Amino acid sequence: MTETSCKGDHGHEYDVVVIGGGSGGLAAAKEAAKHGAKTMCLDFVKPSPAGTTWGLGGTCVNVGCIPKKLMHQAGILGESFSDAREYGWKLASEGHDWGKMVEQIQNHIGSLNFGYRTTLREKNVTYVNAYGRFKDKNTIIATKKNGQEQVITTDKVVVAVGGRPSYPDAPGAKECCITSDDIFSKPEAPGKTLCVGASYISLETAGFLTALGFDTAVAIRSIPLRGFDQEVAEKIVKYMGEHGTRFLRDSQPTVFEKQEDGKIKVTFENTMFGNTFEETFDTVVCAVGRDAVTEGLDLPAAGVEFNPKNGKIACVDEQTNVDNIYAIGDVLDTRQELTPVAIKAGVRLMRRVFADTPYKEKMNYDLVPTTVFTPLEYGTIGMSEELAVETYGADNVECYVSYFKPLEWTLNHEEHKGVPVRGDNACYVKLITNLADDERVVGFHYLGPNAGEVTQGYAVAMKMGATKKDFDETVGIHPTVSEEFTILEITKRSGIDPTKKGC
Ligand code: FAD
Ligand code: NDP
Repeated sequence: MTETSCKGDHGHEYDVVVIGGGSGGLAAAKEAAKHGAKTMCLDFVKPSPAGTTWGLGGTCVNVGCIPKKLMHQAGILGESFSDAREYGWKLASEGHDWGKMVEQIQNHIGSLNFGYRTTLREKNVTYVNAYGRFKDKNTIIATKKNGQEQVITTDKVVVAVGGRPSYPDAPGAKECCITSDDIFSKPEAPGKTLCVGASYISLETAGFLTALGFDTAVAIRSIPLRGFDQEVAEKIVKYMGEHGTRFLRDSQPTVFEKQEDGKIKVTFENTMFGNTFEETFDTVVCAVGRDAVTEGLDLPAAGVEFNPKNGKIACVDEQTNVDNIYAIGDVLDTRQELTPVAIKAGVRLMRRVFADTPYKEKMNYDLVPTTVFTPLEYGTIGMSEELAVETYGADNVECYVSYFKPLEWTLNHEEHKGVPVRGDNACYVKLITNLADDERVVGFHYLGPNAGEVTQGYAVAMKMGATKKDFDETVGIHPTVSEEFTILEITKRSGIDPTKKGC
């Protein structure tokens, strides 16, 4: 790497130091260097309470999106054996080898970690595997694994430290349970598993573990997928329940105890009636939310204000209350915790700060599409039905709905415990419009296969302000699942049954 001089005339060693080498931090560091800024990126992973650690790339690559999607895919492949037989395939063995899957996924992650280090070098970003903390607003102390400290001065700082899983405040939780930080590299098969929590991570984990053949339960203390459309959330729970996941509704784990045989006894309290019950598991995965990891950063030394409740930083256009310090990604208060959000915010921010040609585009956090990778995937953009009604009033909200069965499922008539593996009307779409605004589409909900792929393009349409008429004007692609959105006619208000009876 050639040593570059600073772009700005400020007297510091670097134009920018990015603290955190995850989705947002790497994207920001590369973009800053692209515009000639002398850039350093610090990344350091503290081991999880269970002792798991990983390489450069942050949550998404090591313990998030990437291994999660690959394990989800392992589950989907298993489920499609049942289809394959009906398509004439003769399958020799349907057993699953957890160790082989983990090894393959970890090898892939290792190659990504290597690729990130190489790319940073190629792009002229100085990468240091060290933990960063503020000495003052222009000085960072970087501590390496061996305790060696480096003091760095910089004109600007980007805080991109992300978050880590939280644990329930219950005796034995940290000693007995693992989290998403540990499950994807767990060398032994998890066995009978409890997933605690009812949002993205818990439901996704329970989904792939069930599909891989493990006896899996989910403890839900209140509602599934808080903040998402509750009609769809309940359909996900119903589908997963019919396909083998056990749901312990209104159940809050209160004590975790390691037994002599290594199993974990969990005491639950019923949140409705207060009674308690116990069950024993081989593995307990806590997915009860994530905390921003700003505690060790010494933000007060730099004068950066943060929310004392969750450690997150409130920003306006990624700018903290301190003029030279910015924040992006999961560490931001009240923003979506998603990889593409962190990346786009980081790239746009660095372009605004360092590009020679003035660049004004800001990160827009509205209408961010997302997909929950449960066995029946859920893609969504915009408002839930509940939020639309609250925002526009029930009279102004129209919901177009349809149930459907993907063509690819139709040859499979197999049943599992009396429930069709590929049920009629298991999939669902719901388009929510605002009658008071030309029937503008304000909520998009798709429950079915390939939800991420289906949802992405419709996000462009909604960003452009698509109305129901625009969806109707669009010609579908046949035979696909996505074409459902171009032929929606039945409204919830009409009371007509939206289930499909035949082709
Ligand atoms: P991170 O990626 O967490 O990176 C922060 C980095 O900074 C880490 O490497 C951390 O160790 C390091 N660090 C922290 N403190 C310091 C310090 N003081 N000094 C130096 N380094 C430090 N999002 C999606 O869009 N799609 C998905 O399918 C998806 N699935 C997910 C599944 C799981 C199980 C999880 C946990 C998350 C998932 N996410 C998904 C969310 C996504 O991973 C995060 O939104 C994204 O990684 C946030 O990026 P970030 O740069 O803010 O932080
Ligand atoms: P969330 O904060 O979204 O949900 C936490 C869940 O845990 C809720 O169901 C909550 O219930 C429950 N909970 C909280 N505390 C306790 C407790 N003490 N005991 C029992 N249950 C509890 O966290 P996640 O960890 O699921 O996800 C974090 C973020 O990661 C997501 O917001 C998402 O942005 C990102 N992510 C994205 C994915 C994707 O794009 N596919 C996949 C996975 C993660 P209650 O509602 O009652 O509070």
